[in-house]
Formats: sequence, C-alpha cells, structure tokens
Amino acid sequence: MSVPNTPYQNARLLIDGEWIESQTTEWHDIVNPATQQVLAKVPFATASEVNAAIAAAQRAFQTWKLTPIGARMRIMLKLQALIREHSKRIATVLSAEQGKTIADAEGDIFRGLEVVEHACSIGTLQMGEFAENVAGGVDTYTLRQPIGVCAGITPFNFPAMIPLWMFPMAIACGNTFVLKPSEQDPLSTLMLVELALEAGVPPGVLNVVHGGKDVVDALCTHADIKAVSFVGSTAVGTHVYDLAGRHGKRVQSMMGAKNHAVVLPDANRQQTLNALVGAGFGAAGQRCMATSVVVLVGAAKQWLPDLKALAQKLKVNACSEAGTDVGPVISKRAKERVLGLIESGIKEGAVLELDGRGINVPGFEQGNFIGPTLFSGVTKDMQIYTQEIFGPVLAVMEVDTLDQAIALVNANPFGNGTGLFTQSGAAARKFQTEIDVGQVGINIPIPVPVPFFSFTGSRGSKLGDLGPYGKQVVQFYTQTKTVTSRWFDDDSVNDGVNTTINLR
Ligand code: NAD
Repeated sequence: MSVPNTPYQNARLLIDGEWIESQTTEWHDIVNPATQQVLAKVPFATASEVNAAIAAAQRAFQTWKLTPIGARMRIMLKLQALIREHSKRIATVLSAEQGKTIADAEGDIFRGLEVVEHACSIGTLQMGEFAENVAGGVDTYTLRQPIGVCAGITPFNFPAMIPLWMFPMAIACGNTFVLKPSEQDPLSTLMLVELALEAGVPPGVLNVVHGGKDVVDALCTHADIKAVSFVGSTAVGTHVYDLAGRHGKRVQSMMGAKNHAVVLPDANRQQTLNALVGAGFGAAGQRCMATSVVVLVGAAKQWLPDLKALAQKLKVNACSEAGTDVGPVISKRAKERVLGLIESGIKEGAVLELDGRGINVPGFEQGNFIGPTLFSGVTKDMQIYTQEIFGPVLAVMEVDTLDQAIALVNANPFGNGTGLFTQSGAAARKFQTEIDVGQVGINIPIPVPVPFFSFTGSRGSKLGDLGPYGKQVVQFYTQTKTVTSRWFDDDSVNDGVNTTINLR
C-alpha cells in the first residue's frame, strides 16, 4: 500500500526480528496535524499477527533470560549512542506526525534517552540482596529474575519518551517485549525500535504490533503476557488495568491528570509567570504533566493581567516554522473536544480572559490549531476543572491561603503532578508534606523525575503500585526469588530429626 508524495513508509509490524507488511484490511492514516497531509498508513494487526508477535517473544525469552547481564547492558550502551546520533532525524519525523516543535521533539527523545542511559546500569540495578548466617550456617539471598513476555501500550503525546520508558528497561532486565505504539504517531517510535535492532537486540526480544482496542485487549488477555505497562487516558488505562489484572498480569497504568500550580505572592514574579505559561501552553497543553490549573493565593491574584499578557505573546504556528511556541493539537477530533470544553466553560460562567478559538494560521488553514486560552473565575464544579482538557487551556482559580490551596489540590481526584511557587522554605516544606500528589515541583513547573528516580504519579492518575523507569520499574519487570540455603561440610554431625519450625 503506497502513499504518494510522502517520504514516509507505511508502518510495519516487527515480528521475530522481521519487519512485516500486515495482512489486515484495516488501515488508519497518520496525519500531519498542521497540514492534514497523510504521511503514511498504519495497519491494525490481525489476531494471528498479534499471536505471532507474542509467540516470537515467548520463544526468544528462553534464551534472552539466560543472556549475561553484561551483554544486555552493552546493547543498551550501543542503543543510547545510536539514539544520540539519530536524534535530529527522529525529531523531524516526530514533529511532523505529532505536531510539537522540533526543539520539543528533541526534548521528547532526550527524556527517553535518559532512561536508556540508566538501563546501562542494569548490572547494579538488578542486583539482589544477601544476608549471611541468618541462622546457624544458613544464608538468605534474593534473585531478581525476568518475568517473561511484557507488553507496552503507549499514547500519542510522547512517541519517543514513553516507549523508551518501557522496552529498554524491560529488555535490560532479561524480559522480551511486545510494543503497541499509538496509532496516531507510530513512525518515530518505529525509528527507535529500528535502532534497538541495530544495537543488537536479538530477533523476537522486541516486537511491535499496531492497532486499537482489539489488539490492546488481546495483549491484556493472552496467557503468555506476564506484565502490561500502559500510559494514556484514564478511561482506557482503567480498562487495561482491570482486564489485564483479571487475567493475572502485573499492570501499571499511568493515566490522565489535572496539574495545579499554586502561586504564593512572595514567588519570583517573572520566573513564575514564565514557568506557568511555558508549562500551560507548551506542546499545546498535551503533556500529562502540563500545568492546567493555576491557583493564585492571596495578593498573587493581581498577577492575572500579566499572565494573560504573556500568554497572548505566544506564537501559534506549524512546528515546521521558526519561532513557533504552540503547535496544533493532534487531531481534528481532539480539537473538537477541546473547543467543546471551552464552550462549556463559557456556559458554566467562567470568565474567558483569552480566547484561542477561531485562530487563523496563514498557510496552515487546515491545521488543528487552538490559541492559548485562559479562564479566570473557575470553580470546582465546572467541566473545565473536573475534566482533563489536554489542550492549550489554562484555568485560573483564586484562594486566600496556602491551606486552602492545599485542600483544593487534595480534593481533586487526579494526582499526577503539582507545583508550588514561593521563596519561602517553610511554605515549600509544608506543601511537600501535606500535598497528596505523587510528583511535586518547588519552583519547577513540570516536575518529571529523572530516571534514577521513578515516575510517581498517584491517586486517580495511576493504577498499580510501581511506576515507570528507575528502581520501581526494575521491581515491576522482575520477580524476586528468595533463596535460603545451608551447605554441610560433611555428614558427621547428626542433629536428628527436628519437627519444630526454627531453622537453627
Ligand atoms: P488513549 O488512552 O486514547 O490511548 C493510549 C493507548 O491506548 C493507545 O495506544 C491507543 O491505541 C490505545 N487505546 C485507545 N482506545 C482504546 C480502547 N478503547 N481500548 C484499548 N486501547 C485503546 O490516550 P492518548 O490520547 O493517546 O494520550 C493522552 C492521554 O495520555 C492523556 O489522558 C494523558 O494525560 C495521558 N498520559 C499520561 C501520562 C502519565 O504518565 N500519567 C503520560 C502521557 C500521557
């Protein structure tokens, strides 16, 4: 199936080390969100193709799990070098299919690259523990063993970073993997997979299938899949968690968000305003850690006009154009949804300070653009507050005290990220102690942890105990086996039969 006038190839499946043309009859368009150009097509894999990918992973696991840890580590070392080398090439494709700026696309790749760099330390990360002489002549130690075939299901908003949260650490731990990228922008993900093969990942260790609900459900229910990593919306993440959980798999679901930035009046004014506007409107608000609610505390309420003025200055354009701050949202459907929520905000009585609807981007009239949109006077019952908007829309709320701000954030069901802007150490310490959100920024607008830590979103933003990357994901992708052992010098000491429970 060829697509004219595009340098992009249709997405293929990767099964047992071979790039396969799918036999499916269901193909979806991969569309440039700024131009509506169809870049390529993506096949929704058939049931037998999904089964073949899982079977290849299951076969490969038998040898990959025995591959020495140093050999796995060296593949990760090669992969990180290759990603670095090809980062600009991948960023161009990522920007075209996803819509984010080239600089932001490079950031997307870089944050994933950091996870691969961390996977190079798998030798120490996967170490077990040892306690000598826990009872007379008895030692206890743990092994961290790979669990088998793992699956990863990823969203459209970080087509590089999020697949790289998953397959490198899973593979480095000795597992094999079936990846199901977002059907909306899989091309850059496939480039990363290609680099993994070039780095030496053996056939069957990493496989790729494309598709929607049918393919995801097949991965969640197949007997040979041992663990499922999901990142995406709350509705789908909850479904994946329930379905895969019912089928006995380990599951981690990272889901939707409503991230509050709390601003105290003693904060550095310009730094804070810059941070709010960058975190609210960057990537057109399509980051799970984007700031979507600004809570102005006390006299910080007077900052609203400056916030509006700064947001108004952002340049909305296609990401291929120099100086673009805000690109399009991913699809026409996403745009309609965001516009609907803006309408609801107006109807429900919020004050539309800045209206990004109806924006005209010359030369890109068909693009899914929405300009920066700012609401003030937002209350807790409005849909623009209760729902994740996932677009360039910032809701401003006002409270009188830090205690009220903390209570507001803690009452919101989501718990992905939050931030406090202040110069007061005491206020910051109170905030980090009392706030019930898994990732906290102090004068940091998007506090995504580096990979030596783990991604620790909480409450309604996450299902499952263990987060992506860092030490937590090593636990997720391994089974701890505890061995208690005793070795006898000879048979000369005969203590007789002991029917009590102690080990002496
Ligand atoms: P999505 O839930 O629509 O899609 C995610 C994946 O699920 C895709 O691979 C998609 O093909 C698949 N899918 C879609 N519908 C399905 C269905 N009915 N059944 C089974 N699988 C289905 O999410 P998206 O729109 O691609 O991504 C945006 C969402 O992801 C936002 O809610 C955002 O907050 C969230 N997200 C969360 C994090 C986090 O770490 N918490 C990070 C990035 C994105």
